[in-house]
Amino acid sequence: MDNKKRLASTCVKRAKAKNVRAGASSAYVKRLKAALVKKEIHSNTIQQKNHNEISKVKPKQKGLADDARERLESARFRYLNEKLYTTSSSEAWNFFQEDPESFGVYHKGFKNQVLKWPVNPLDIIISDILKGPKHWVVADFGCGEAQMAHTIPNQVHSFDLVAANDKVTACDMASVPLAMKAVDVAVFCLSLMGSNIHDFLKEANRVLRIGGLLYVAEVESRCKNIQEFLKNIERFGFQLKENSLQKYFFLAKFNKIQNMSPKATLPRLYLKPCLYKKR
Ligand code: SAH
Repeated sequence: MDNKKRLASTCVKRAKAKNVRAGASSAYVKRLKAALVKKEIHSNTIQQKNHNEISKVKPKQKGLADDARERLESARFRYLNEKLYTTSSSEAWNFFQEDPESFGVYHKGFKNQVLKWPVNPLDIIISDILKGPKHWVVADFGCGEAQMAHTIPNQVHSFDLVAANDKVTACDMASVPLAMKAVDVAVFCLSLMGSNIHDFLKEANRVLRIGGLLYVAEVESRCKNIQEFLKNIERFGFQLKENSLQKYFFLAKFNKIQNMSPKATLPRLYLKPCLYKKR
């Protein structure tokens, strides 16, 4: 309906509502129309004025307070990151038990870092798992916000030090609440943190069935010698199947070939911490 018609119909409705006589009604309708047109013009003028005022306002500039907050968050992220890389998993567990809110700060910083990468290793792992059967059960060790569980149709057990959402089971992944040989796939995507990564690999061997898949994605610069590191992982009962080097990270895929006894003497693996620069 155009403006004129809308006005006329409004006038008629108002006139009817007033229950005026036919003769008086037309005069009343005229006055009403004039008043409404004036009101409309006035309101258009106000709207235009408001619009002009709004468009004069410059986009909000980043203030000193925002800048200071970002610096603080970034410093806190770097502190937490270093802590996770340099302490044992039980210390990291105790730390987040006392201060679970830090987890959000850590993950905000982590996401900012990975967003700068051309490819996220988790996306590659997800697309590879999607090629396998849907009935395969997956254990996502150090799942963060459980993106894997939110993305794939498979049953996924998502473990992390803090449960960021209801898909996540909070635990130290050196000991996860799963039976032996309970899963077909185990994933460590950028999560081999802490000074006891050998405990995590032992745990992956325990929960994987023979023939099951193990994915390990890690920051390339953490490793002195990637081939040697992958050879050492094989000593935990795995056989290397595929290995690729991408910008910033390597991604390896293994098959579990052997059950390891809990008493087996296995090498203590070492990866350098991945320390991010100050912004
Ligand atoms: N895999 C996710 C998150 C990687 S960030 C992704 O690729 O997006 C690394 C995660 O490992 C963090 O959430 C950290 O809390 C978790 N992590 C490190 N040590 C852990 C441990 N001992 N037990 C459980 N989670 C651990």
